[in-house]
Amino acid sequence: MEKQSIITNASSSSSSWIRGNCIGRGCFGTVSKAVSRIDGGVFAVKSVDLATCLPAQAESLENEIGILRSLKTHLHIVRFLGDDVSREGTVSFRNLHLEYLPEGDVANGGIIVEETLLRRYVWCLVSALRHVHANGIVHCDVKSKNVLVVNGGSSVKLADFGSAVEFEKATVGVAPRGSPLWMAPEVVRREYQGPESDVWSLGCTVIEMLTGKPAWEDHGFDSLSRIGFSNESPFIPAGISELGREFLGKCLKRDRSQRWTCEQLLEHPFLCQDHHSFFTESSPRCVLDWVNSEFEEEEEEEEESDGSSLETIVSAMARISKLASTEGAIWESNGWTEVRSDASEELRAKCEYPVSTGVESELESTDDSVTPSENEESASASVSASVMTCQIVDVNYKLLINV
Ligand code: ATP
Repeated sequence: MEKQSIITNASSSSSSWIRGNCIGRGCFGTVSKAVSRIDGGVFAVKSVDLATCLPAQAESLENEIGILRSLKTHLHIVRFLGDDVSREGTVSFRNLHLEYLPEGDVANGGIIVEETLLRRYVWCLVSALRHVHANGIVHCDVKSKNVLVVNGGSSVKLADFGSAVEFEKATVGVAPRGSPLWMAPEVVRREYQGPESDVWSLGCTVIEMLTGKPAWEDHGFDSLSRIGFSNESPFIPAGISELGREFLGKCLKRDRSQRWTCEQLLEHPFLCQDHHSFFTESSPRCVLDWVNSEFEEEEEEEEESDGSSLETIVSAMARISKLASTEGAIWESNGWTEVRSDASEELRAKCEYPVSTGVESELESTDDSVTPSENEESASASVSASVMTCQIVDVNYKLLINV
């Protein structure tokens, strides 16, 4: 049974952890699996090599750390566990510690054919975005790749806050942030990027979930010009219900003042009609799934008024999970690198809760491990190739901050 480490305080310590194999790579960093030597908790660590990364990569990671640190925990947002600087051999890495979500992203999961599941995922996303917006933040990069699957596919969490920005800063004339094919018309036109722009990207993401493709075909500048300067809206696939179609219509209004807010979207029948059924319909695969799904709705409601509710649930899960496992971690295994954080940082307070699979098998499966330096090199190469203003190289190309 694997434990996740929860580091609740941002100022850290001489804590040490072990870097495992690479589990993801984006334009802005390499994500590795990691294990705390202190409590055995498994977490994900997003890192940049401070000596070789582009300034925009370091800035993006720093930005993500600041944003996630400032956001109160939410059930449908990847959980921030802390940050540090580590020295690994001769290399210094800036690291963001996140809860480990091993089930992959929605973009990799294939198209979603079952509308009940789609509605559940969309509900999670809108609920996450409502929380983000209520805290004065715009995500700026909502797309399937940044939606991570949890609880055996029954739920999702919003991730990748590297492009996010405080709303008061996201005003007129700022450089567009995010991924071009998901950008709202006003963002492409460089007029404005605010919560409404996230709602447009959400609409594009729902279409992407249904079709497995971005809402707009990738034809470089032509696509940008269609998004920003035509009267067109993305094509809504035939497979969706009338309610779903109407919901998408509220997200994909070209005039941002006509777009619904997340608060309003949560009241749309696509999300609120039979809301209870789409959270309880799927059969739990094991007792832990049942524990999760049972708590999920109540927790979200309570969380906003009482930040301690998640801890209560985590503690309940921990008690149940401990009954189900007596396994411990084996630290000395090939492919894992012990990491010590900068001694200048204090120890974060910790608690722990167990989830899903066994640490031991993960520790042993290191064949595909790639060192962060190798990843940074290739990420840097691909970013260098794509650093140009407003040119779409491929659908996953992202605009870099301050480029
Ligand atoms: P992008 O190029 O989209 O901006 P990025 O550099 O900002 O990417 P992320 O999107 O945050 O990086 O992460 C890259 C990949 O790493 C994700 O697609 C996902 O597969 C994996 N990943 C990210 N966070 C986690 C996590 N908490 N647990 C497990 N895997 C993760």
